[in-house]
Parts: sequence; structure tokens; C-alpha cells
Amino acid sequence: MVIIGAGVVGLSCAVQFLQQGFKDVTVLSKDKSPNTTSDGAGGQWRPFGVATDEEQTKRLQRWGKETWDWLSRIYREHGERTGVAFVSGYELFRKQQPLPFWKDDVIGFREVTQEEIALFVPSTADFLSGAKVESPSGRPPLLYGFFYTTIVVDMARYMSFLQTACEALGCKFVTKEVGSLSEFVSRSKSTASECKEDGDLHADVVINCSGLGARTLVPDPEVYPVRGHILRVHAPSIKHHFAADDEEDNLSPELLYIIPRSQEVVIGGTYQVNNWDLQPAEDEAKAIVARCAEVFPDIANAKILEQWVGLRPGRASVRLELDSSRSDGEARAPVVHNYGHGGSGITLHWGCANVCVKLAAQLFDKEAAEA
Ligand SMILES: Cc1cc2nc3c(=O)[nH]c(=O)nc-3n(C[C@H](O)[C@H](O)[C@H](O)COP(=O)(O)OP(=O)(O)OC[C@H]3O[C@@H](n4cnc5c(N)ncnc54)[C@H](O)[C@@H]3O)c2cc1C
Repeated sequence: MVIIGAGVVGLSCAVQFLQQGFKDVTVLSKDKSPNTTSDGAGGQWRPFGVATDEEQTKRLQRWGKETWDWLSRIYREHGERTGVAFVSGYELFRKQQPLPFWKDDVIGFREVTQEEIALFVPSTADFLSGAKVESPSGRPPLLYGFFYTTIVVDMARYMSFLQTACEALGCKFVTKEVGSLSEFVSRSKSTASECKEDGDLHADVVINCSGLGARTLVPDPEVYPVRGHILRVHAPSIKHHFAADDEEDNLSPELLYIIPRSQEVVIGGTYQVNNWDLQPAEDEAKAIVARCAEVFPDIANAKILEQWVGLRPGRASVRLELDSSRSDGEARAPVVHNYGHGGSGITLHWGCANVCVKLAAQLFDKEAAEA
């Protein structure tokens, strides 16, 4: 079996296949940790920018819950070296919001009062006392919100945890850029996969976890980049996560979020659809700091440790299915797709890997029945 992609989606698939007793698993990728999008992500468990309809929401809930259960389990069993931590905090809004579909999946979800927000957001306090009507950005004040505890994953540590688990279970790694899925020639389940940096590509099944790369690899024009710019800052006094917006799941280009991790605080961000630019821009970094300072004024003086830009693999819905375009008897290896997780890959990855294992098992059962 060949898994294309060594981001969080590909590595979690590799771990699951090996744990379920699949032999001969090779992860083949152009880039690997620490150079994937997954390595740079904020790492907060929170479905974001992927639910479009009721059907999709049900799938997201299942995948998100399975991922939550997995992350809690490894935290219990292996502690902080997994990168997993439980962090409480606020999501604040300028307009009243419906309750999100994931409210029962996090811990202690509750709505907050304006008086509670005014305890720590200066512009909300000014508004309630009648001193000012606008926040520093000129927008309406933050008057509504939720409080809950969620999982925050330090991605550098988690990627290393997954990589180590893969190696311990006997996974092979090959660095190679694949031009097309049709390069993989079908092999029977009993024969080993053969994937060399300069050799033929043979596999009984290919699991496509190529993220944004799927746009050219499949090719799938429905996949698009959503540029995200974040800063890692030194702000040890921040112990809670914060996010603020006009509306829940409002996919505006300018986001405001603060995620404390063990060594630093991540602040963000941007959500720029179809922007491929991987360079952090100075004016944008200043705007991110200014936005976050509305909730936490001290952020304006925090030391910036690092800036990072990543491209979320955007798609109207996650593609998680057996590719049905292959005809019976075709030389090309069968493909299971698992890409297009947008801003929720960390939130959903383990549940999606579960589905991949089931789809591959069904494929092999069908082949065995037909043999
Ligand atoms: C700023 C930012 C913050 C984020 N914060 C969060 C968050 O807090 N919570 C959350 O849930 N999500 C978050 N995300 C989203 C999350 O990072 C992605 O959804 C997730 O990383 C996607 O994982 P992936 O494995 O599919 O893709 P990637 O990590 O991009 O991995 C893709 C892999 O495929 C390989 N590949 C691609 N094409 C080819 C090819 N042709 N041949 C060989 N290999 C190929 C690549 O080399 C790479 O190894 C954030 C993203 C950004 C940018």
C-alpha cells in the first residue's frame, strides 16, 4: 500500500493501517515534517470552514469526535510528548450567534455574558460603561460569546509522535514528487509495494493524502489554497485561547485568534482564498498584532519569535472516497482519496483515517470475493 503525503492526514492513515494489521505500508511524499502545512498549523480542535450542509455536518461531527477521542487517549497514555493539551478559552462575537454544531463535543461549553467579556476586553468594558461605542478597529464591540475547553495540539511534537509511531510499526518512507496517480501500476495484495525515488510505482492501493497537491495530482480543480499567516509570540501571561469575529464560522480574510501552547502563543491570522503567496508580509503582521490587541492589549508589546504562512487545502467538502473512475481490470492501482480538509485537518484527521481503512478493507474483500 502506498500513502501519498506525509502531513497529518497521511501520517495518521499510515499509523491506522499498520495498527489494523496492514503490511507493507509506504509513505511517499514530496515534503515531510517539519516542512508540511500540518507542521505549521495552529493546532486547535475546532471545526472551521468545512461544513456546508446537513449531510456534511454529520460527517464532520463523526470524524471530529473520533479525532478528539484519539487525541485524548494518546494524551492519557503518553502525556505531553504527544503535543496534546487541554486549553480553555473564549470565542467572542459582535453579533448574537446560533450555537455551533460541535458544542457538545468540547468540554463545558457555555454562553458568556457581556459583563464577563468586559472583565478582560477593554473596549467591551468601555461600551458597557457608555464611554465609547466602537472597538479600536472601528467595528462594533464584542458583546456575545462562548466559553469552552478544547484540545490544542503542538504540531511539531505531534508530527514527531506520529512519525515515530509509523517507524516503530515498520512504515517505509520515500521522498518523491508524484506527477499523476496513473503512474501507479496495480499489484495484487500479496505482492509488496515497490516505490523507489527513481523506480516504478506499484501498489495494491494508493491512499491519496496530498492536501493542496491534489489540485494538480488528481487533478482536482475544486481544491484551492486558503492562505493563512500566523505569528508565534512570547506572551507567557496568556493561558486561554481567544477568537473573535463578526459571526461564528465567518470566513473573512482577516481573522483574530490567540492559541497558547507550551513554548509560545500563536496569534493569527488570515483566510485568503486563492492566494498562493508563501511570504509573510510585514503590514499584515502588524495588522494581526493590532487585531489581537483588541482582546489582549499586552500583545502589542509581545516579542515576535517567528512568522509563518501556510496554505490550507480548501475544498467545498472533504473528498473521502474510493475513486470510482477506475474501470475493472485497469492497470492503474485503485485510489482512496482523503484530501481537502481546509482549516480543519487537525480537527478531523483521525476520523478520516478510520474511513480510509474501512474503504481499503472493503476493496480487498471485494477483490478477494471476485478472485
Ligand atoms: C495558518 C494555518 C492555521 C491552521 N490552524 C488549524 C487549526 O488550528 N486546526 C485545524 O484543525 N486545522 C488548522 N489548519 C489546517 C490544517 O493545517 C490542514 O487542514 C492540514 O494540515 C491538512 O493536512 P494534509 O496532511 O492534508 O496536508 P499537508 O500537511 O499539506 O500535507 C500534504 C502532503 O502531501 C505531499 N504532496 C502533495 N502533493 C504531492 C505530490 N504530487 N507528490 C508527492 N507528495 C505530495 C506534501 O509534500 C505533504 O507531505 C491550519 C492551516 C493553516 C495554514
